Amino acid sequence: MIQPVNGKFEMPQLPYGMADLAPVLSQESMLFHFGKHLQTYLNNLNALLPGSAFEGKSIEEIVKTSEGGVFNNAGQFLNHALYFLQFKAATMNNVPTGSIAKAIVRDFGSFEKFQEEFQAKGASLFGSGWVWLSADANSKLVITQEGNAQNPITKGLKPLFTFDVWEHAYYIDYRNRRPDYLKAMWSIVNWDEVNNRY
Ligand code: MN
Repeated sequence: MIQPVNGKFEMPQLPYGMADLAPVLSQESMLFHFGKHLQTYLNNLNALLPGSAFEGKSIEEIVKTSEGGVFNNAGQFLNHALYFLQFKAATMNNVPTGSIAKAIVRDFGSFEKFQEEFQAKGASLFGSGWVWLSADANSKLVITQEGNAQNPITKGLKPLFTFDVWEHAYYIDYRNRRPDYLKAMWSIVNWDEVNNRY
């Protein structure tokens, strides 16, 4: 749960630097996406909270119960916090470990089949949104497409990891080639963090 501090949410503290995800995500891309897009959603959310019914609530509670401008900015703050906190510097042959690795094989057949389905759902999402891996109430893994600021917690799912498919996530590094961005992203996923969420 992400809680406000003295009534305001704060930028996530990342365990890596802005240049550390290159060449998958360049420093320039990170400075815009993390430094400007996320900061703006956060500023907008913090400006909407004082005096509202959402003051002092966790971000998850706000996303589950709000609508309109509060929902859009709260959803985008939560989505981006989970997105940026799930990365590490790129490594060769970066594959899932631990319980999430076993669950992926159980529910998708293999990591390769899971990757194919995840990339296909990310590539085919029309417009802006997110492709998510989540766990249902029985810990079964599911892939969902979520438009705009939506998050799987509004469907009762536990969000585990996500690729942002808004154009701002990939246009600096990949221009219009969303499938190339999705394919490149696997090398920076921190599966230890995904296991912590599962
Ligand atoms: Mn984004």
